[in-house]
Amino acid sequence: MSQQGLESTGDGVAAEAEWETVIGLEVHAELATQTKLFSASPNRFGGEPNTHIDPVSLGLPGALPVLNQKAVELAIRVGLALNCTVQPSVFARKNYFYPDMPKNFQTSQYDRPINTDGWLELASGKRVGIERAHLEEDTGKTTHIGGGGRIHEAGYSLVDYNRAGVPLIEIVGRPELRSAEEARQYVSELRGILVAVGASDGKMEEGSLRVDCNVSVRPVGSETLGTRCEIKNVNSLRSMARAITYEANRQIKLLSNGEPVVQQTRHWDESDGRTHALRSKEEDYDYRYFPEPDLLPLEPSLDWVEQIRQALPPLPRDRRSKLAELLPSANAASVAVVVERGMDTLVTDAIGAGGVAQRVHNHVVHNLADGVGCLLADALAELTQMEEAKELTSTQAKKVLEALVAEGGAPRQLATGMGFEAMAVEQLEALLDELLATYPAEWQRFCDGDAKLTGFFVGQAMKSTQGKADGKALTQLLNSRRSS
Ligand code: ADP
Ligand code: MG
Repeated sequence: MSQQGLESTGDGVAAEAEWETVIGLEVHAELATQTKLFSASPNRFGGEPNTHIDPVSLGLPGALPVLNQKAVELAIRVGLALNCTVQPSVFARKNYFYPDMPKNFQTSQYDRPINTDGWLELASGKRVGIERAHLEEDTGKTTHIGGGGRIHEAGYSLVDYNRAGVPLIEIVGRPELRSAEEARQYVSELRGILVAVGASDGKMEEGSLRVDCNVSVRPVGSETLGTRCEIKNVNSLRSMARAITYEANRQIKLLSNGEPVVQQTRHWDESDGRTHALRSKEEDYDYRYFPEPDLLPLEPSLDWVEQIRQALPPLPRDRRSKLAELLPSANAASVAVVVERGMDTLVTDAIGAGGVAQRVHNHVVHNLADGVGCLLADALAELTQMEEAKELTSTQAKKVLEALVAEGGAPRQLATGMGFEAMAVEQLEALLDELLATYPAEWQRFCDGDAKLTGFFVGQAMKSTQGKADGKALTQLLNSRRSS
């Protein structure tokens, strides 16, 4: 994406310049393990504060970490799914003080991360490089009380260590995204992959997926990267896109006025729609990284990595192409939606059970957005067959579908129970006779060419039959009566 900006030429004349936005994302995902990265406390969202804790996650003197094998396995799954090289790695201490980090260092990986150098393909087909995806532990959570939750206006702060030591994978993307929309696609694809391989629940709203956005701008055509700002605190895809757009425009304005962009960490404020300076950007040397002496280097055997690779489930990209093959007339966006919602198995199973492909797909896209409840693939298949055979109108099919979602069961029985016997042609004819006699003026206008009245007659028919009449069949009858 390029944006227009004004570039000051110094003599008071503003010249048009075009700017390119450059974005690189750091995504933190909490790994879906039972326990923490280095101790046996549960890894679970919420809970009474300070109940999921132990000497290791509290950093008590003498407590020693023991690496969680499941976390390593999940990290390897993510690395493989992102086409990374999985390599021997080393844990490192990243030293800084914060009250929600009781050890005064975060155990992370630094110069030897477990996964390096991969890529992810966006739904558009564009490939975005992944620099690394390393393991580290999460911090606890500080809540500032008073002053609207802001630290400098708060009366006091409370610390909850339930999250301290929860395993994270940090996925560092290369600065290859060029618009807020591409960033949105990237996170959405990444989230799909993390969920597909069982590494994360992908919930941004619960903080199990967190995105830091690095944003810079540069004149179109320039090969060098501009100075970036890193934006924290984006809690949804929507606020991420807003934050990136705001930040890029802020930088364009600065540069256009001949002012420099200062490298900073900035905070996105959802309520005023702006980013605010938090602190100047820290450098690696500020953290005094050194290898963690309490943990051995991590060297997963090639066999194990290979086993994990073999057991990887199909990824969203493959699932989309598989689904698209079954649905030659569906558009790509609707196929992507079904895969994103994890409902592609339902669609393929229902088609496999004899369902009418496009009808199955349409129901899933339009009528099952809130979930499938008790609906089984076989039932969905049968429902579409009944529609295809004109035993059910589309209004009736929707009602049966609602019942299937709510309580399960067999579509045919449910339809009979609701009184949805298909009306015979003779019944429809009789109904039409009645309507034409009741509304002669409307019939005349229809015969004079007012096509809008089709809707009127179909509506009346639906009303008097409680939705049983087949709207399509009735329209055909209306048209053939007019021309006869
Ligand atoms: P750190 O955040 O620790 O300084 P890096 O320097 O490796 O780490 O960069 C982290 C992230 O910033 C990466 O996702 C990378 O793509 C992104 N990034 C780096 N330089 C720029 C830039 N000039 N513009 C936008 N994003 C950038
Ligand atoms: Mg960073």
